[in-house]
Amino acid sequence: MANETALQPVRGTRDLIGEEARRHFHVIDTARRVAATYGFDEWSTPVIEDTRVFARGLGDTSDVVMKEMYSFTDRGGESITLRPEATAGLCRALVSNGLTQSLPQKVFYAGPMFRYERPQKGRYRQFHQIDIEVLGSEGPLADAEVIRCGWAILEALGVAQDTVLELNTLGDPESRDRYRTALVEYFAAHRARLSPDSQMRLDRNPLRILDSKDENDRVLVAGAPLVTDHLTDSAASFYARLQDLLTRLAVPFRLNPRIVRGLDYYSHTAFEFVTDRLGAQGTVMGGGRYDGLVQEMGGPHTPCIGWAAGVERLAMLMAEPPPAPTGIAVIPVTDAQEPTALTILQSLRAAGLRAEMAYRGNLKRRMERANKTHAHTAIIIGETEAASGVAQVKNLTTGEQSQVPFDGLVAMLG
Ligand code: ATP
Ligand code: MG
Repeated sequence: MANETALQPVRGTRDLIGEEARRHFHVIDTARRVAATYGFDEWSTPVIEDTRVFARGLGDTSDVVMKEMYSFTDRGGESITLRPEATAGLCRALVSNGLTQSLPQKVFYAGPMFRYERPQKGRYRQFHQIDIEVLGSEGPLADAEVIRCGWAILEALGVAQDTVLELNTLGDPESRDRYRTALVEYFAAHRARLSPDSQMRLDRNPLRILDSKDENDRVLVAGAPLVTDHLTDSAASFYARLQDLLTRLAVPFRLNPRIVRGLDYYSHTAFEFVTDRLGAQGTVMGGGRYDGLVQEMGGPHTPCIGWAAGVERLAMLMAEPPPAPTGIAVIPVTDAQEPTALTILQSLRAAGLRAEMAYRGNLKRRMERANKTHAHTAIIIGETEAASGVAQVKNLTTGEQSQVPFDGLVAMLG
């Protein structure tokens, strides 16, 4: 007797079935196809990594590393982490595979990521990202290409009009030092009003305060100095060139000097594609330039640029789900015609057509089954058809019926 409590998926994780699965894979397939036209190659790296890949890579003051990582000690005593994002692992892979002399590497990635967050709409503990990175390229042409590719994916998904590109720069190291000094001066004057987290950030990494989600912090952040007032000439000219390239590539954007991004490793370009259609979970794609990450993994200084986008958020933004696939239903009228029907079924599948056989119950039940599988066409094989080698073919959309010799079926339906 099934009197036990039915088991549920782990909090913050979801099963993808039916329409949700179709939306999900449509996002990934579309991104993969578009990224290929921009010359990106797909990689796959392990879901688990040495914890140091993220602790070093993401910066030990980032929210992800401090609060959100799924880390555990394995049976051999190693500290292992379920990856919270793709970039650090890709940089680790670049170094592990000796590719730091074969640059640039243009990588497309899709896969599950894990963060211990409070689950809500658009925020899960297992979620999925699509990701592209140019590993080993000075900007700003690569920055423009990476952003243009992201925009092309949003266009191909039909969600571009619902998103806005917000662009910022974090400048070069010298700009960042100047800016950090200005920030510390400003926030130190308001120290007591900062959240405990941000008081800690003020000592360890003041830029992080700009990304705080605490309401009181946000009020203070609104009055904070702007990075764009502290840029060196060369950082300012990098930023101006990127804006010019984006304009040439027809990517609309607006400048938002408040964007810093959640991870510690960015420099120069930082950007987010945001929407007002997903409530608090408004960032669908985010990324930027990071120049120190490959070094953290033990490689040489390697400038990189990339972004990651949440598949779930993109899937929610898509207006229409992709239609359920339709196919052909092969219907033997009685069990006696099953062998003939099976041969026809096999020839259709071998020709690359989606085909199913309805083989339970009387003809009515079988026709119902054909409708359930969203068949667009039924091939009906009764006693006469099996004997003559000519099938009844019924177009289930128009109701039109015709007689087609078995060996003409693939040509007619293909
Ligand atoms: P947020 O500010 O929403 O927490 P983030 O800055 O932590 O986002 P990134 O690390 O930049 O996000 O990841 C890139 C994208 O991945 C996000 O823009 C979002 O679309 C998606 N994403 C991040 N965390 C989650 C999550 N827990 N559930 C679903 N999607 C997520
Ligand atoms: Mg986050």
